[in-house]
Amino acid sequence: MESIEKIWRERYQHPTVWDQTFPPMSMGEMVTNSATAHPDAPMIDFMGRHFSYGAMLEQIRRIACGLQKMGVQKGDRVGLYLPNTPHYVAAYYGALMAGAIVVNFSPLYTAAELEHQVADSGTKILFTLSAKALLPTALQVLDHSALETLIVGSVAEMLPPVKSLLFRWFKASESTPLPDDPRVIRYDRLVANAGGCSVPDIDPVNDVALLQYTGGTTGTPKGAMLTHQNLTANARQAQAIDPHANEPDRIIAVLPFFHVFANTCTLNRTVVNGGEMVMLPRFDAAQVLAAVQRVKATSLPGVPTMFQALLDHPAIRNIDFSSLRACISGGAPLALELKQKFEAATGAKLIEGYGLTETSPIVCTNPYEGLNKSGTVGQPVPGTRVKLVDREDPTRPPPEGEPGELLFAGPQIMKGYWNRPDADAEVFIGEFVRTGDVGLIDEDGYVKIVDRLKDMIAVGGFKVFPSQVESVLYHHPSVKEALVIGIPDHYRGEQPKAFVTLNEGAEIDGAALKEWLNPQLGKHERVCEVEVRLNLPKTLVGKLSRKELVAEERAKADAA
Ligand code: AMP
Repeated sequence: MESIEKIWRERYQHPTVWDQTFPPMSMGEMVTNSATAHPDAPMIDFMGRHFSYGAMLEQIRRIACGLQKMGVQKGDRVGLYLPNTPHYVAAYYGALMAGAIVVNFSPLYTAAELEHQVADSGTKILFTLSAKALLPTALQVLDHSALETLIVGSVAEMLPPVKSLLFRWFKASESTPLPDDPRVIRYDRLVANAGGCSVPDIDPVNDVALLQYTGGTTGTPKGAMLTHQNLTANARQAQAIDPHANEPDRIIAVLPFFHVFANTCTLNRTVVNGGEMVMLPRFDAAQVLAAVQRVKATSLPGVPTMFQALLDHPAIRNIDFSSLRACISGGAPLALELKQKFEAATGAKLIEGYGLTETSPIVCTNPYEGLNKSGTVGQPVPGTRVKLVDREDPTRPPPEGEPGELLFAGPQIMKGYWNRPDADAEVFIGEFVRTGDVGLIDEDGYVKIVDRLKDMIAVGGFKVFPSQVESVLYHHPSVKEALVIGIPDHYRGEQPKAFVTLNEGAEIDGAALKEWLNPQLGKHERVCEVEVRLNLPKTLVGKLSRKELVAEERAKADAA
């Protein structure tokens, strides 16, 4: 196989892009450079209210200073338990500027989940909002963990249209009054605490910026340590492949910032570009469509289920998408049919990329201009090397033409897992990180994901890739979503079972779908059942999730 570098150089004649290096840069430097270059440019549009780079930098510096005055030292962990609001942006860069390590917490975490991650990461300070869905949970954790301080933003000053969205989602109308407790500090008071601080020296390559807990499809979640350089390099890599990188972007920031995809593709990427992030605190198809038109958005990053929901919304026909340079899909496979229908309905390009928490996350994307190969996740981004290894023995390549596990190296690869040298030993092979994804690399250097190693179903001695069975199901005109998992089987260890949702108005039962599906599959791939459901489980970012179905089926088998 030709090296990707050779392909970029010779076939695509892109040596300048390939040779682009990403000199070490801290997050504080990144945001300061951008804000100093265009202080008056808008950085945030929060439901029509604008915050300039200059104003945000001032707020960020004040937070950095306030944290230092509270005793925060380099390497201390500061948590964010926040939805996408301007508080998130200021607290994130402020904590990083103070030398702290940011820990992202999903705003949907229960007290038990929050407590577990606080304990694992050693988080001492947590930012949150006074909304009913957040503050009571955070207060509960404050009493039962090593957490020392809560910094609480208020939603009271926000504009009416913002309230309506936030209020529904985070029950902000039932805003919880702050208790009279010295451990609970007002966000505004922290911001008001200005001046007189010096920024600690950061070593971008070695100092950790972010502890990003991995989804943990199986096993307990682990904190991926992403350094300052990992994050700034990945934002610059994303910028390097955009032919319009010199024009300021207006990016729809609806993916939740606590997830690494949004952290890089909307937040850090926007800052590098000097563009504006148009924030929506939760996904609502009508609101996203209206925002695209209202601000003449140039970029819309999302997950496939989000693009499907936009496509299904009747308002899509009345929206002007001509301002969009690209919609970026990542996080899960993008079905060819969805890509085609979305592009036909909007006239916008829907580009697929790929990555994982451990890689900050972007490692591959299809190009903005030039050959988009459907069914592939594109080519490695500049500065990234890819390798295929044998699934059983990662020290050797797979047999010629066979899929293998994908490994990546580059400036965006994590430093390791937080306090988990055992997991590090398993995931690194030299400077390459294992992805757990099975793939192929074609003659043009485009990477195709075949499946995830841990999702593979072992039927007797044979391995079945759930996504291959799912992709057949997606060809049925009635099928809207499909998930295939392995369920316990007395004789063969496991057997495949499919779960589907149907398109509106479709009427077909599971037995008929099974009868249609199985003749198209290999002997071991054939499913024992197709179950039709009204909904399939999804993660907060909207990825279809097999985990809940696996647990359900396991519990059923245990009870039998
Ligand atoms: P996470 O670390 O939670 O972001 O999950 C990363 C995993 O999502 C990867 O290891 C892949 O299995 C999957 N993934 C991300 N993007 C894609 C894509 N474009 N196609 C297929 N799988 C993807």
